[in-house]
Amino acid sequence: MRRIGIMGGTFDPVHYGHLVTAEEAYHRFRLDKVVFVPSAHPPHKLDKVITSPAHRYMMTVLATMSNPHFEVSSVEIDRPGPSYAVDTVATFRKDYPNNTALYFITGADAILEMLGWKDSTTLLRMCDFVAATRPGYFIADSKIAEVFGEHASRVHFFEVPALAISSTDIRARVREGRPVRYLLPDIVISYMERAGLYAV
Ligand code: ATP
Ligand code: MG
Repeated sequence: MRRIGIMGGTFDPVHYGHLVTAEEAYHRFRLDKVVFVPSAHPPHKLDKVITSPAHRYMMTVLATMSNPHFEVSSVEIDRPGPSYAVDTVATFRKDYPNNTALYFITGADAILEMLGWKDSTTLLRMCDFVAATRPGYFIADSKIAEVFGEHASRVHFFEVPALAISSTDIRARVREGRPVRYLLPDIVISYMERAGLYAV
């Protein structure tokens, strides 16, 4: 039985928070690989200016290239319209053999919003959810039961170290001329500089 992790995100830009989370999920849930899926038009960010999918895809490829069990998929970018997790997971279900277990990896912040996602019940039927908690961010079992009900056993939490890193903060840092080194891979920083991303 294969176990595939799906790491969805805007990745604007991808950073060590994403990479450490994916690697930890790989280890904790004994995954065969983790597929990063940059979104085309995040439904919850329709009102925001987002860097072009091509740039975000490139940065994600560069950031994951040195890890043999990381992959990047362009399914969401290639599909017109907003990116819904339920459509992406359905694509994976179709593309991989039936006995493949799918693990959708998110941050703990995203998991609690999940019930607001499109067809979240269908989603919970198709895959497990693994949610990274940042240290100090604790979600009580009672809260999980309250939010996920009968699907609570499909939701797993795991802790990732030291990750107060966010793309929002990185973009603000670039804009303000503050350092971003050590928050994301050097090669992504080089790409950002070359493409003139995030600077005013
Ligand atoms: P933004 O600040 O623009 O929202 P972000 O840093 O939250 O960006 P996203 O692309 O929105 O990055 O996140 C993709 C996924 O990675 C989400 O599931 C999110 O919860 C998770 N994630 C983001 N940052 C971290 C982090 N530092 N540690 C663990 N998970 C994270
Ligand atoms: Mg986010």
